[in-house]
Amino acid sequence: MADSRRAVLIEEMGLGPVWRLRGREAEEAAEPVQAEARTTMAPASNIGAAPAARPAPAARNAGVPSSSSASPVPMAVPSGERERAILMKSWPELQQAVAECTACGLCKTRRNTVFGVGDESAQWMIVGEAPGAEEDARGEPFVGQAGRLLDSMLAALKLGRADNVYIANVLKCRPPGNRNPEPVEVAQCSPHLVRQLELIRPKLILAMGRFAAQTLLNTEASIASLRGKLHEYKGVPVIVSYHPAYLLRNLPDKAKAWADLCLAAEAAAGRIKF
Ligand code: URA
Repeated sequence: MADSRRAVLIEEMGLGPVWRLRGREAEEAAEPVQAEARTTMAPASNIGAAPAARPAPAARNAGVPSSSSASPVPMAVPSGERERAILMKSWPELQQAVAECTACGLCKTRRNTVFGVGDESAQWMIVGEAPGAEEDARGEPFVGQAGRLLDSMLAALKLGRADNVYIANVLKCRPPGNRNPEPVEVAQCSPHLVRQLELIRPKLILAMGRFAAQTLLNTEASIASLRGKLHEYKGVPVIVSYHPAYLLRNLPDKAKAWADLCLAAEAAAGRIKF
């Protein structure tokens, strides 16, 4: 990419000051935030299995590791009647099913379900964790501060939330107090995401944050170890990056997120293969 174009994109993404101040050497020497790696994860449980005993709910700090986080849960493999029915639904049926869902306790505290937003024939699918307060109030994903950063990141690639992009979360309802999703919640909700992915058939999935990455890829690996590589979900390339909420608190890592976006653009264009 030409230097001038790169400079414009970095500026649009809000990376300019960070990029210039730190310099390449400092960037390379910077200690990656290893908290993800420190996170103690219980083994992944299977969809439908009874959730393991869990610690008291921890406030969710999207993308930011927590020492009392719930186990990752693999994406649902159709097992029961409910999952099979979800995986047969059309867009309107799926939307209605999410709007009326009472499969886990989050239905008691939500104000709105947050189905997803964007272009239903998008080439890019962005997967986040779960709605926060603003998303719960408005019924749309990523509309808070983290969402504004995500919009800038997309704009830097000449993409927009309704323009060749579809955005959805692993959970369609807000965990109270923004705590981490529970395994049982992910197990009940992930078939909706599976169906969204099937209906959209994107060329690229960008998993933002630990929950999205671990759920899609069925792994307990840290974000740090998953970044920078091409992964696969049912034949679709997956790139893992930091959650925008994490980036708001860890500005130096925006440069790494930019590198992730560049890799994602390459994968979406089919220039890198499995
Ligand atoms: N964080 C997410 O992961 N998703 C949202 O929709 C908002 C914040």
